[in-house]
Amino acid sequence: MPASPPHDPTLLAGGTGGPRALRPLVDTVFTALTDGAAARCGPLPGGGPDGVARRVADHGTPVLPEQGHGAHDALRELVYVLAEGAADPADPHCAAHLHCPPLAVATAADLAASALNPSMDSWDQAPAASALEERVAAGIGALVHPSGRDPDALVTTGGTESNLIGVLLAREVHGRRLRLICGADAHHSAHRAAWLLGLDTPLVLPTPRGVLDPTTVDEALAGLDALECPSPRPPTPAVVFATAGTTDTGAIDPLGALADVVAAHRPTRAVTLHVDAAYGGPLLFSDRHRTRLAGVERADTVTLDLHKLGWQPVAAGLLTVPDRTALAPLAHRAEYLNADDDTEAGLPDLLGRSLRTTRRPDILKIAVTLRALGRRGLGELVDAVCAAAHQLADLIEAEPLLRLRARPGISTVLFRPQNATDAQVAAVRRGLLHEGHAVLGRARAVDPATGHPALWLKVTLLNPHTQESDLHGLLKLVLDQHQHQHRHQRQERDPRR
Ligand SMILES: *Cc1c(COP(=O)(O)O)cnc(C)c1O
Repeated sequence: MPASPPHDPTLLAGGTGGPRALRPLVDTVFTALTDGAAARCGPLPGGGPDGVARRVADHGTPVLPEQGHGAHDALRELVYVLAEGAADPADPHCAAHLHCPPLAVATAADLAASALNPSMDSWDQAPAASALEERVAAGIGALVHPSGRDPDALVTTGGTESNLIGVLLAREVHGRRLRLICGADAHHSAHRAAWLLGLDTPLVLPTPRGVLDPTTVDEALAGLDALECPSPRPPTPAVVFATAGTTDTGAIDPLGALADVVAAHRPTRAVTLHVDAAYGGPLLFSDRHRTRLAGVERADTVTLDLHKLGWQPVAAGLLTVPDRTALAPLAHRAEYLNADDDTEAGLPDLLGRSLRTTRRPDILKIAVTLRALGRRGLGELVDAVCAAAHQLADLIEAEPLLRLRARPGISTVLFRPQNATDAQVAAVRRGLLHEGHAVLGRARAVDPATGHPALWLKVTLLNPHTQESDLHGLLKLVLDQHQHQHRHQRQERDPRR
């Protein structure tokens, strides 16, 4: 490979000269990405944590050399080792988590965001970026709450932060006695939000069918005051924390019925509805699947993650509200960013649009993606991964050595080798990880055959280009790994065999 001409590593990315400084560096990055992926030749580096750490040390030492190695060397070595050692969600056999393969178009937009480096905490650091965010956030708010009075969305780092702000808004309206009510399968960030905000521990309702039962929620709301002694006046305020797409199974709570329950309690109790649609929210793009979220538009706050079913590079979280006045409790003043007289003179006030101060313009990649694909294009990607999940479920049902837990909720499939123990299921996953052949997740969930919790292999399909042959290949890897370990265990028990 011809050596790149020397490059002054102090050149800047912005201005009219920025692209000229960037272009040769980006070429070096592309080469390193290509070579790293080719060297890995699979969804994950082989050899486990020790092998990866050794290669990172080889390529990344010294961390702070006395004399700089120059821009091309630094990019070549470190981008290469990161690519070679990546868990690559663009590989169809990398399907453990809600970890999506980002679209090239969104990634290209993110490069521009880095080059321009607007910071979203004041207008004078982000004039066009803040105007773009205002428009796009309103558009996404309207997608979720089409008949809202003045829909809006905040851009967040993801579902964890969105859930925190959703619960924070409820607390600011209803006070610190607020009780969070959620199902047993709610995301752990619901519990973290309650903890961070100094609320009582959440009231966790059982979900024997995998989703919140509106009758159970109704009874929990009616019984809230009995939990406080002496019985309080006024009644304990609550936020019902529903989920549209649980992380493990993609289950969607009955949102319309839950909105009815919340509405029925409102005359006698301060209660709001938050929907964690971090995973399922993008079903709204799909003509085929969007009715499954019916009722979400009635929620007070909705969490949505476009770095899951939205094919964005991290981070691309959102929190939508039907009426932007609901965001007023987040208002915050700092003389140097949004002085009263600046705001009165017409400079947009951005500080109340986040809990953060300095903030990346994550809206750019989102805006570019929405425009490039349109609602229909995004909906087709959603349809493709949901169809792939059903295809995988069909293949598992047709394979006598495997057992499917249930038909997929969104794009997640839980299954296990027939007659395997939990320890064997866990070992299959780790064996595949260690060899670098496949990245599967794990989930503990009730086995419908026994009624008891069991450990399952979890496949989360987020790659819209996954083919049936990829799914066949994945199941073969699982079966081979299981049989290999089974043989190995028998040999250990009886070394003469
Ligand atoms: C992923 C997920 C979250 C957390 O989102 P992050 O973007 O990882 O912070 C919250 N809720 C659900 C249902 C999720 O699947």
